[in-house]
Amino acid sequence: MIVSLGLARRRVVVVGGGGVGTRRSRALVAEGADVLVVAPFASADIAAMASRGELEWRQRAVSRADIEGAWLVVAATDNPTANASITLWCEEQRTWCVNAADAEGTPARVAAQSTHGDVAIGVVSLGAADPRRAVRIRDALGRVIDEGDIDVRHVRAREGRVMLVGSGPGAEDLVTVRGMRALAEADVVVADRLGATMLLDRLSHDVEIIDVGKSPDHHPVPQHEINDLLVDRAKKGLTVVRLKGGDPFVFGRGGEEVHACVSAGVSVEVIPGITSAIAVPGLAGIPVTQRGVAATVVITSGHLGPDEATRAALAEGATVVALMAVGTMGDFMAAALDAGADPRTPVAIIECGSTPRERVTRATISDASLIADETGVKPPAVIVIGGVALDGLLASKVAATPRP
Ligand code: SAH
Repeated sequence: MIVSLGLARRRVVVVGGGGVGTRRSRALVAEGADVLVVAPFASADIAAMASRGELEWRQRAVSRADIEGAWLVVAATDNPTANASITLWCEEQRTWCVNAADAEGTPARVAAQSTHGDVAIGVVSLGAADPRRAVRIRDALGRVIDEGDIDVRHVRAREGRVMLVGSGPGAEDLVTVRGMRALAEADVVVADRLGATMLLDRLSHDVEIIDVGKSPDHHPVPQHEINDLLVDRAKKGLTVVRLKGGDPFVFGRGGEEVHACVSAGVSVEVIPGITSAIAVPGLAGIPVTQRGVAATVVITSGHLGPDEATRAALAEGATVVALMAVGTMGDFMAAALDAGADPRTPVAIIECGSTPRERVTRATISDASLIADETGVKPPAVIVIGGVALDGLLASKVAATPRP
């Protein structure tokens, strides 16, 4: 029978301080167990954990009194006879014992395990021990869960909740593993037009998908209605994923949605995403900071045009990354010149980053608006202003030999 043990604050004795004893001790400490290691010699790792107070190390040979009161014992000395006697002591006091040297005769076995959100999987071999094989099977099963290929929605009624998931800039493999797990658990997904929207195609047909990026008359659903929707579905006991482009807290109005949930007493979790502000330039070979070129980056919304902080950054030669700025690009360039920036300062405009429609347009402050007009630049686009946007920066010597 495979049983999951809750070992937090329970005494577990590890006998032996070699490789196996160290690995088990580390895992037990991570689970919050009250760990006692008994070994005349032990690894540097065990010594370090003992000196940090994470476990107790009795630096001597084991005696029967050491295992008294233990819930679980790991016999991992390099001496099979010693392991056998420890196993026998445990048998007599009815304590479960893992005999590391005798995989077939051991009363308990440790599974190769991994956790995936609130699901743990464990693989044990029923025959001879073959740890690498168990790990291989565990990893294959883990991948199936992580890639969202099985339905892990909760079957029993539980309290509804909301997860704000950042889906990254658009490519479906730029979402996080945690984000994928959240999607696999969702009963309802409330989605935008931006980000990795193709992930929606992978959902089971009975998951409710609500597209708030556009309604039948092509206007986005107002924010207060989105907030109400999230709260309403969660209060019905459903697991709701709010899927957003990039990161939920970078011009994503995630803060308002968290606030709405908290005010309504609905539990809400934020799962960060890869923001287009940094990743879209990065994919085009533009580092937003680069030694000797720019040490500060300002991320701004072009919605209202350049504000004071952006003007100051343009004056100082910091990197400015403007989102939602296709319509106000001319204002940004004028503000840069106004602030005394060099008209030859590089500008890069990246449309539809990380998607097959990605296009990179290079210009300078003086001609960016004209070139954008001529090439018909359209949203979604990220505009990068600053030395880091220089075409071929990473191929040039500038990158290799930063200025002092
Ligand atoms: N929360 C998102 C940003 C939302 S604001 C994030 O962290 O990425 C929407 C703006 O993001 C768009 O107008 C555009 O400026 C930018 N954007 C998002 N995805 C993009 C992409 N794939 N390519 C270029 N720009 C993108």
